[in-house]
Amino acid sequence: MTRPPLNRRLAEFGTTIFAEMSALAARTGAINLGQGFPDTDGPEEVREAAVRALRDGRGNQYPPGPGVPELRTAIADHQRKRYGLEHDPDTEVLVTAGATEAIAASLLALVEPGDEVIALEPYYDSYAACVAMAGGTRVPVTLRPHEGAYVLDLDELRAAVTDRTRLILLNTPHNPTGTVLTRAELTAVAELAVERDLLVVTDEVYEHLVFDGAEHVPIASLPGMRERTVTISSAGKTFSFTGWKVGWITASPELTSAVRSAKQFLTYVSSGPFQYAVAEALRLPDTYFDALRADLAAKRDLLGEGLAQAGFEVYRPSGTYFVTTDVRPLGATDGLAFCRSLPERAGVVAIPNAVFYDHREAGAPFVRFAFCKRTEVLEDAVSRLKRLA
Ligand SMILES: *Cc1c(COP(=O)(O)O)cnc(C)c1O
Repeated sequence: MTRPPLNRRLAEFGTTIFAEMSALAARTGAINLGQGFPDTDGPEEVREAAVRALRDGRGNQYPPGPGVPELRTAIADHQRKRYGLEHDPDTEVLVTAGATEAIAASLLALVEPGDEVIALEPYYDSYAACVAMAGGTRVPVTLRPHEGAYVLDLDELRAAVTDRTRLILLNTPHNPTGTVLTRAELTAVAELAVERDLLVVTDEVYEHLVFDGAEHVPIASLPGMRERTVTISSAGKTFSFTGWKVGWITASPELTSAVRSAKQFLTYVSSGPFQYAVAEALRLPDTYFDALRADLAAKRDLLGEGLAQAGFEVYRPSGTYFVTTDVRPLGATDGLAFCRSLPERAGVVAIPNAVFYDHREAGAPFVRFAFCKRTEVLEDAVSRLKRLA
């Protein structure tokens, strides 16, 4: 008799594709456009704020469980200023070890064994693992390419709701497709959540990375959603400090307290001095956020046009720092095999979107490239990729 695997609930997940592809990049010397981290650090004054906090002895010992008051207040001010959302920093804000812990704590707190969780497929890889750790059942609703972008089929979403559905796990702007859900789409999701009495956990880590005048709408700002939504964000993507692992949730007092009950036994607290630095970062002037967006929009265009010239079909992202492509015009059908051979063929590493799908065949021909890299690195990558044409 074979014994069940030691990590029964997680056995299906193996190691993440990012580890495999980053190792491949290191081994072959290929340009790594796989994992989504910037190759330059965020603003110098924010780095200095972290150094000051360290030197002044702020946060070097266990910070308060919900997060330091300076950061919780800065998060509440950010939500008010950007979105008109009012949150009490004492009862409606919780600081976490990155958005990753916020996702884990939210799902562990709110999902009971047997509950169904609807997630937009392709989905960020930690969602499926966290639903499994909570003993829930994931129910994917697939975003499909349509006229050059990925769209949510609202009828499919509606049909996915059952009597066992506990929550909808949203992600907008959406990784890996770059889709930014519109106000109309989010209104339909909100109406469904209210009608079927569902919770919504929404991952908005790319809230500031939207292009071409696209608008990021927090679903918590829509009618009936304030009391049923856990909104998640993080400093990693907005300020280019992915190693700091400062994230947060904003939600009603009841939901915040529920998530805190899980968080306190995961990390208890984290990132002491960095919390003070992120509090300052959230108060950077609009010019910072505008410059970040303009820089990334130009990089999106540079990489997107290069990929198109190399023969890929390119889905132009309205948000995030990823671009999804279809490799079929290059004569390939399997994105995973394509990505495994790409370092040798063109000296570039990318991520096969199939790993973000339950319906692997639905994601088979799609491949994701990150453009949060220096311009000269992207130019080099583009010239290498043209070998494929
Ligand atoms: C990067 C990312 C995260 C993780 O954020 P951290 O703050 O680094 O934990 C969560 N969700 C999505 C969609 C991401 O792309």
